[in-house]
Amino acid sequence: MNLLETRDLQKHFGGLHVTAGVNLALAQGEIHCLIGPNGAGKSTLFKLILGEYAPSGGSIWYGGDDITGLAPHLRIRRGISVKFQVPGIFAALSVRQNLAIALQHHLEGHSMAEEIERLLEYLNLRSEAAQRAGNLSHGQKQWLEIGMAISLKPRLLLLDEPTAGMSPEETHATGEMVKDLNARGMTVLAVEHDMAFVRQVASRVSVLHFGRIFAQGTIDEVTADERVAEIYLGQGHHHV
Ligand code: ADP
Ligand code: MG
Repeated sequence: MNLLETRDLQKHFGGLHVTAGVNLALAQGEIHCLIGPNGAGKSTLFKLILGEYAPSGGSIWYGGDDITGLAPHLRIRRGISVKFQVPGIFAALSVRQNLAIALQHHLEGHSMAEEIERLLEYLNLRSEAAQRAGNLSHGQKQWLEIGMAISLKPRLLLLDEPTAGMSPEETHATGEMVKDLNARGMTVLAVEHDMAFVRQVASRVSVLHFGRIFAQGTIDEVTADERVAEIYLGQGHHHV
């Protein structure tokens, strides 16, 4: 069964066709990585799936329902959650307070306190719980954001560049976290540039180029595709 499907999804900004007819199907239970050069439209696709942008055409299906016109908070209530590329933590508040904000409309009192402790343990942030989130290392900030995104136990977790700025060790640990979340039932769609991470986690990979799915397959199939290598030429920091 497909948990998520976009059908001929389009987003135009003036004459710019940033999303130019994306057909993407995510099977229930998979970890799907979305790669593609800067400006390919990856973050825009996430905003469409979340309902932050209204599409210019096409439709979005989730759990068999057409959610194209559904408000963002109703998508969240149905189990879609995201860690965006741009940081969404409250730097002046403590790590614990950030998690409390993520949980505030869903749990209270003792059950919220318990859940916060459980998340701190899971994110390996217990000893930083009272620190200002702004003082965390880059990798720890990403983990806090992932924690906020998973706090409501989503069915579909979208991660936009979750390992940006991380050391290889932190990236690997994040990959293990994503695999563990997946084993607990979360379907994952992750935008990533780090090919070691993609190889570590992905069941399937889609390549987005000029707002379209350009190639799709296993990591081995995609990296063996010469057309894929060509679209990265001139973007020295990407390695496919
Ligand atoms: P990626 O995440 O793959 O790097 P984005 O989805 O962020 O790409 O952006 C794709 C293209 O869409 C870029 O050329 C960007 O400038 C353009 N774009 C994104 N959002 C807007 C917007 N709100 N208005 C105009 N252009 C936009
Ligand atoms: Mg982006």
